[in-house]
Amino acid sequence: MLARDWLRAFARATYANKSHLTVLDSAIGDGDHGVNLCRGLSYVCRWLDEGDVPDSVGGVLSEVGALLLTRVGGASGVLYGSAFQAMGAELATTEADPHMFTDALDAGLAVIVKLGAAAPGDKTMVDAFVPALAAFRGSCVEISCLRRATSAAASAASAGAESTIPLLARKGRASYLGHRSIGYLDPGAVSTELLFRSLAEVVSSARACV
Ligand code: ADP
Ligand code: MG
Repeated sequence: MLARDWLRAFARATYANKSHLTVLDSAIGDGDHGVNLCRGLSYVCRWLDEGDVPDSVGGVLSEVGALLLTRVGGASGVLYGSAFQAMGAELATTEADPHMFTDALDAGLAVIVKLGAAAPGDKTMVDAFVPALAAFRGSCVEISCLRRATSAAASAASAGAESTIPLLARKGRASYLGHRSIGYLDPGAVSTELLFRSLAEVVSSARACV
């Protein structure tokens, strides 16, 4: 199932980037972003291996959201956990329909913005998520292909994360630093890039075009 593969790929990418995320969050936060995410995702992987995993993609994403909410901690735990729950509620049973996937990502971003009140340019994960979703949606309008949409979204998320370097943080812990937050990548934008890269990776290895 795509949802399970996505979560496992996200966990692998996060483990591989754990120290990178720690370095980033140490520069403009409290250094726990990589550790927090890895802890939460290790619970997710254990549950995927041994738990009572539902058949529906919506069910999987909702349960994952609940695990992330309770096991990650920090601002990102609440934001990612709630986003996965919102995506799960939106996706229900169909996982491979690109338009339904757009709606699910839309619901995920909406809850991040509702809870965190960050706008693009505030130097948060929103700076990677917004362009990723726009690229995903644009690609779906052009041609309804999950592979192309996820690949476009991953590239846009990467550019979005990179765009946080010159920004002044206006939300989250980094905002306490004021102008000293300028010149650094936002750790949450980088983990959101990993989220979209993982999705593109599993979709491209799963099928040519759906
Ligand atoms: P904490 O700051 O509580 O230690 P984490 O280190 O787990 O949380 O996550 C930090 C990341 O969370 C930031 O890099 C940023 O991308 C994201 N973040 C923090 N506050 C917000 C917010 N209000 N809206 C969106 N994203 C946020
Ligand atoms: Mg932190």
